[in-house]
Amino acid sequence: MSQLTRLSGLIDAFRPADGPPPRSLAKFCLWAVKGATPVLLMAGLVSACAGALEVFTAVVLGRVVDTAVEADARTFFTDHWTLLLGCLLFFIVLRPLVLGLSAAAQGIAVSPNLQPLVLSRLHRWTMGHAVTFFDNDFAGRIAQKQMQTARAITDVTTEIINVVAFALASLVGSALLLTSIDWRIGLVLVLWIVAYFGLIRWFMPRVRHVSKNRASARAMVTGQVVDTITNIKTVKLFAHADHEDKVALDAMSAFREKAIQFGGISTMFRFTLMTLAGVLPAVLIGGTLVLWSQGAATPGDIAAAGAVSLRLAQMTGWVSFTLMGLYANIGEVEDGMRTLTPPQTITDAPDAVDLGEVADIRFDHVSFAYGRKTGGVEDIDLHIARGEKLGIVGASGAGKSTLVALLLRLYDPEKGQVTVSEQDLRGLTQESLRRSVGMVTQETAMFNRSTRENILYGRPDATEEEMIEAAERAEAHDFILQLEDHKGRKGYDAHLGERGVRLSGGQRQRIALARAILKNAPILVLDEATSALDSEVEASIQEALERVMEGKTVLAIAHRLSTLAQMDRIIVLDDGRVVEEGTHQQLLEQRGLYARYWQRQSGGFICADDESAEAAE
Ligand code: ATP
Repeated sequence: MSQLTRLSGLIDAFRPADGPPPRSLAKFCLWAVKGATPVLLMAGLVSACAGALEVFTAVVLGRVVDTAVEADARTFFTDHWTLLLGCLLFFIVLRPLVLGLSAAAQGIAVSPNLQPLVLSRLHRWTMGHAVTFFDNDFAGRIAQKQMQTARAITDVTTEIINVVAFALASLVGSALLLTSIDWRIGLVLVLWIVAYFGLIRWFMPRVRHVSKNRASARAMVTGQVVDTITNIKTVKLFAHADHEDKVALDAMSAFREKAIQFGGISTMFRFTLMTLAGVLPAVLIGGTLVLWSQGAATPGDIAAAGAVSLRLAQMTGWVSFTLMGLYANIGEVEDGMRTLTPPQTITDAPDAVDLGEVADIRFDHVSFAYGRKTGGVEDIDLHIARGEKLGIVGASGAGKSTLVALLLRLYDPEKGQVTVSEQDLRGLTQESLRRSVGMVTQETAMFNRSTRENILYGRPDATEEEMIEAAERAEAHDFILQLEDHKGRKGYDAHLGERGVRLSGGQRQRIALARAILKNAPILVLDEATSALDSEVEASIQEALERVMEGKTVLAIAHRLSTLAQMDRIIVLDDGRVVEEGTHQQLLEQRGLYARYWQRQSGGFICADDESAEAAE
């Protein structure tokens, strides 16, 4: 057992990568397996020894045949017992030992460690991408690419060790052995090897290309399927199962097409190689027979050449199959690399500092439109004093969430700068910045973990009492005690389902609130934080919120204007710009957009846009 642990511990499976992933294939593969290379070389060497041993088997056979032909049959065993004992030891001790060692290096030291090593590096890199990266892709597709790339690199590496090293050693050994019989036989093998590699060179780039397309189409299927499953409620609600079925089938049919192309090229490749493999025993055995007939070779040479050529012909089959896999995997690595390894756009500057005490926040002529011409926010010039409570109002799509996302540095402004305590966010560590901000949003997704873990996400080192107190303040404690999941776990131990689907919108918001209360950060962002609550719960939470807001700088977004009336200042956004600002009272007196919203609110909500507001009138 301890040997097993020692062998499996030779590679540190979770060692972080050195720097960002390079964007060329070979360098990327080296980046992915760096740290494991000495063990990989060792495993390759053992595998090459095993390959060379296969040729030696033919040598042993040839020696036995030659000795038997020349020996006296009656005294053969007594005269040659040392040779026979040597053969026996070779077959039942040395050969199993080397092959076993090769299997252990491969199966225990390399394979189980390599995939986690590569996957953890890719996953860490992916997690460091800016939110835009995830906005622009399917979650399922990204996950699929991570898995596919890690598996493909693992397979490429193990195949190189297992097959390529083994086969090369066998080929070189065979060429040497045959040359020792007669140089012309050796030359025949060398010519055959040249033809073999010529074919591989012609076919492989084509295999790689088709495989890359197939991998890309496969990831698209996963992306579509995961997207549909994630939105299954909407699909059912709109009775669009047929449409979703068609979208999925379209993606699958594109994948099928690429798979057929792959099948076509692989059939051609294997057929041609098999024909070439068939030629080998014919020319090698035939050639040695000719030499024997001229007295230039012994019967043992014929046996050895026969054994070698049959072994090589047999090997050609699985080597070509493996090479197909190898190049197919290289295509998959290239495909994954293209998606996963672009440089991270939002990173800590090399000289980034931690955000110390939070003073004021400033948006200095900030514009950001998600890389497009319109949308987002434009020329925001805003100063929020320490401890100020700022309300943000605007129709749907006016840019409220974008403003907050810029403060959290989920995106970098396209123009202008955002500063906290006079420091540009780009010069701060992202972690220290986000540690200073507590946030409750309209749609807070939960992890499918226990309620306790979800609340502790706000501050993992909080005590059980602190965690429960936060839940109580968020009016969540009572309903949490009633929770029970499908495995019978109750209360704070109950799991919440994927994205928290087992909770109502209001319950999710209260857990998110508890999380933010526990975090107790100096800046608090409330993005429609109480929108899903009924008026009664909202009223009691409002009180708790007011206490939580004490001494903090607050940015609160709300459609229900009554929840913002007590704010120190309110800004009104329209089409990405600040069009009005002042206290609730001042804004009412201005008789502008805010006053119109206030007037038009029915049941405490702003209508989503002017037309619907007019329709409501
Ligand atoms: P709501 O009240 O509906 O939440 P909002 O005022 O918070 O709206 P934002 O979410 O900030 O509005 O969106 C502002 C504009 O930016 C919209 O025109 C929207 O289409 C665009 N936008 C928002 N998110 C993205 C994104 N990830 N990629 C591209 N455009 C986006």
